[in-house]
Amino acid sequence: MKFATKAIHAGIEPDPSTGAVMTPIFQTSTYAQTAPGEHKGYEYARTQNPTRSVLEKNLAALENGTDAICFSSGLAAQDAVMKLLSSGDEVLAVNDLYGGSYRQMVRVWGQWGLKSRFIDMYTAANVEREITPATKLIWIETPTNPMLNIVDIAAVCAIARKHGIMTCVDNTFASPYLQNPLDLGADIVLHSATKYIGGHSDVVHGCLVVKDAELAQRLHFLQNACGAVPGPQDCFLILRGIKTLHLRVQRACENAATIAQFLAAHPKVEKVYWPGFASHPGHEIAKKQMRMFGAMVSFDLKDNSLENAVKVMSSTELFTLAESLGGVESLIGHPASMTHASIPREARLKVGLTDSLIRLSVGVEDVEDLIEDLERSLA
Ligand SMILES: *Cc1c(COP(=O)(O)O)cnc(C)c1O
Repeated sequence: MKFATKAIHAGIEPDPSTGAVMTPIFQTSTYAQTAPGEHKGYEYARTQNPTRSVLEKNLAALENGTDAICFSSGLAAQDAVMKLLSSGDEVLAVNDLYGGSYRQMVRVWGQWGLKSRFIDMYTAANVEREITPATKLIWIETPTNPMLNIVDIAAVCAIARKHGIMTCVDNTFASPYLQNPLDLGADIVLHSATKYIGGHSDVVHGCLVVKDAELAQRLHFLQNACGAVPGPQDCFLILRGIKTLHLRVQRACENAATIAQFLAAHPKVEKVYWPGFASHPGHEIAKKQMRMFGAMVSFDLKDNSLENAVKVMSSTELFTLAESLGGVESLIGHPASMTHASIPREARLKVGLTDSLIRLSVGVEDVEDLIEDLERSLA
């Protein structure tokens, strides 16, 4: 089955009890048993919920995995991955990653004796150099946030496999429509489904997808044992969002390409970060591992004072100034004070995340209106 068909049909059958075409919201915490231990496969809703089960089957299909495990947020999904490790183990993570992922690794897991190091992953050889006997997990995010660097998933996963190290790819920025890390050798794919998968900025949700039975079983155990599960209403909203995932992401990528070119030609713009440019250092790898180049665009201004950037960000009318990304509506954001405020300033500057960097999540509005909005605010 091709992607668009999977998005609409994979795992989804009319409800056997009523024939409802759309998956019902099973708003229940428990299920009747005819005799102790005799039931229809559902006992208690932290452990199993039919709405969630349908979503998990659908997500597994979208990432070409065998199992998906859903959580109440992307960071709850990360929490489960980290719990596969033990104290004394070490995580190697890409040096430009989601601020909340960094915060959890350093400030939560650091206290429990799990060490995380943040390294340049843009050459696979460098990853191999950084591996120590304690390294048990390699954490990839690509395209990275907010600098939109590209990590070669296949190359890094091949090195990890050679050393017996588990890999997890945060695929939130690409979405399963653009990139499928399990096909490139990753062990675990993570999504903040809050973003493109949900797609309408109305729900917080996370998931993991795997294709190994033992890993699936360990993660299902953690889902149930730790309990950060999504409610059935949230699972329904994610299922609804997925039905148009391919259409939304495709249009958003087209809009982003037009906007990136507009910004690159603008006299007040110093630099545009978008992997679709042939001059982008990760362009060839992006071409190889992604279907399109994504709908996130970051840029820096010629007058790179914080005040100037604040002026631009506060004067757009269609681009809403807000955290998050991946919805149908376009957003504009300031990573240094918003999404990445939890990363120390020196660490931010080291990867090029200046105080004047502006990040766009391009939506699916008419691109001419979006460009007019940027033109006006830049002026
Ligand atoms: C938002 C985000 C997360 C965290 O997901 P939540 O659903 O907000 O917990 C993780 N990684 C990336 C790349 C994100 O954008």
